[in-house]
Amino acid sequence: MRTRSSLPFRAAPLRVEDPPSHGTLLTTFLSFLSLDEKSGCAVLFGAAVRHFLHWLDLHGIAIRTIDDQAVRRFEKHRCRCHRYSAQQAHYKADQAARVRRFVRFLEDQGYVEVDDGIDDLPRHLADYSDAIDRLQLADGPAQAYRSEAEHFVAWLRMARRQWIEIDDTIIDQYAAHDCRCPVWRKRGKLVATGTKRRRRCARHFVEFLRGRGVIPSVEPVANDDPHMSAYLAWLKRHRGATDETIRRYRTDIRRLMPMLGEPSQWDATALRSAFQRRSKETPGSASLLVTIMRSYIRFLVVQGKCRPALLYAVPSVQRYRLSTLPRHVDPDTIERIIAACPTGRPVEVRDKAIILLLARLGLRAADIQDMRLNDIDWRSGHLTVKGKTRRPDRLPLPQDVGDAILAYLAAARPKTAEEHLFLRAQAPFRPFRSSAEIAGIVARTCDRGGIEGVPTGSHIFRHSLATNLLRAGAGLESVGTILRHSSPETTAIYAKVDLPMLMKIAQPWPGEPSC
Ligand SMILES: [Zn+2]
Ligand SMILES: [Zn+2]
Repeated sequence: MRTRSSLPFRAAPLRVEDPPSHGTLLTTFLSFLSLDEKSGCAVLFGAAVRHFLHWLDLHGIAIRTIDDQAVRRFEKHRCRCHRYSAQQAHYKADQAARVRRFVRFLEDQGYVEVDDGIDDLPRHLADYSDAIDRLQLADGPAQAYRSEAEHFVAWLRMARRQWIEIDDTIIDQYAAHDCRCPVWRKRGKLVATGTKRRRRCARHFVEFLRGRGVIPSVEPVANDDPHMSAYLAWLKRHRGATDETIRRYRTDIRRLMPMLGEPSQWDATALRSAFQRRSKETPGSASLLVTIMRSYIRFLVVQGKCRPALLYAVPSVQRYRLSTLPRHVDPDTIERIIAACPTGRPVEVRDKAIILLLARLGLRAADIQDMRLNDIDWRSGHLTVKGKTRRPDRLPLPQDVGDAILAYLAAARPKTAEEHLFLRAQAPFRPFRSSAEIAGIVARTCDRGGIEGVPTGSHIFRHSLATNLLRAGAGLESVGTILRHSSPETTAIYAKVDLPMLMKIAQPWPGEPSC
């Protein structure tokens, strides 16, 4: 359903002849907006446009060269223009909106030069609108995608950016821009749209255009440091790092780079002070940063891009291994959580399958997020899990887990060509974007079942499975196999969870208690 008629984005070729007189321009503009010249609206548009044209004349700005900067200057000018200043103070924002609409009209008519570097934008917008229809979204989100696409088009043109240069930086600028665009107005007033929504919708539209080959499909990586790109490619190819890991590494390295500059210029002082500025982080993320930077520096050293001694300049973070107990809950609580899963609605059927996978197999959230349809071998009753290292492991599929997945596939999973096993329950039926969504499912299930005292996060199932297996008498080695740990040291964290047993063998403290 389309509730608002799209304004055309014609970006006509520049006219050779000079623009007509101000009066004629205004009349054409008003008739273009289908406004009766005597209506109140026409009077307001007329006043704003005349003021703008007058100001252009005063400053010797030719119509042909109007751009966003000129419009902003006009909006800010301390008005002493004859006949206009009295009104000016009253409705500045409204006047600005009308002027911007007029500038867009000039662009559409070819009086102002615009070079977007893209052909046939109205057709792409119309096709995009049809593509949104096919996603069968609710009216609200569908309308958001359409209007934001138009908004993005208007903003790009206003900012005089080329379509070919679109990348994440430009989309971020768009998301954060102080909006004066000639779209998105309700009764002349701006309707604010949030940063997140702008970013999400613009990305979606850009993806659509990339898919049709209108703009290059590979995002230019010019603003990525070439050393870092080489390093990340190496991580993927030679160390088998997953996309999630690479994303984390990239974010962390990027945060430090502005403080450091070119690797050949790095020195110990700069490195240390860059780390210190990030010292407010939790010990966990600080020590991850240390790991990342050491690995990156090692890579650079091998490439001959920075001095080997720098490896010793990265400070270490004081952390004690095995200093905390893994959080866990007892088997009864786990069973109560599973029993609390309703299966009335499709989304609940999906959530139950996910909870069972977490509880019975102790999978990580990322394992579930990544799971594909063909990871399940129904004939032999096995499940392939790739885990952190992308090294596939085959796990037997317990009966109740298999039943729950089958129920999901049979009745609840949307019919789409998507390969991921678990999809969002609302259109567009995409895979989960992050493992936090799995944690959300766990929290919702506990909430619904009125189960309290369960620590947040989906890892609680993994910890509990290990703990409960050990208490039931399983050895560390078999627990490590079930959890698919590649090193026995990782499993060792569970060696101290059996507190009642440890208390029995604890020796009394020698001497009198000191206080
Ligand atoms: Zn003025
Ligand atoms: Zn805007």
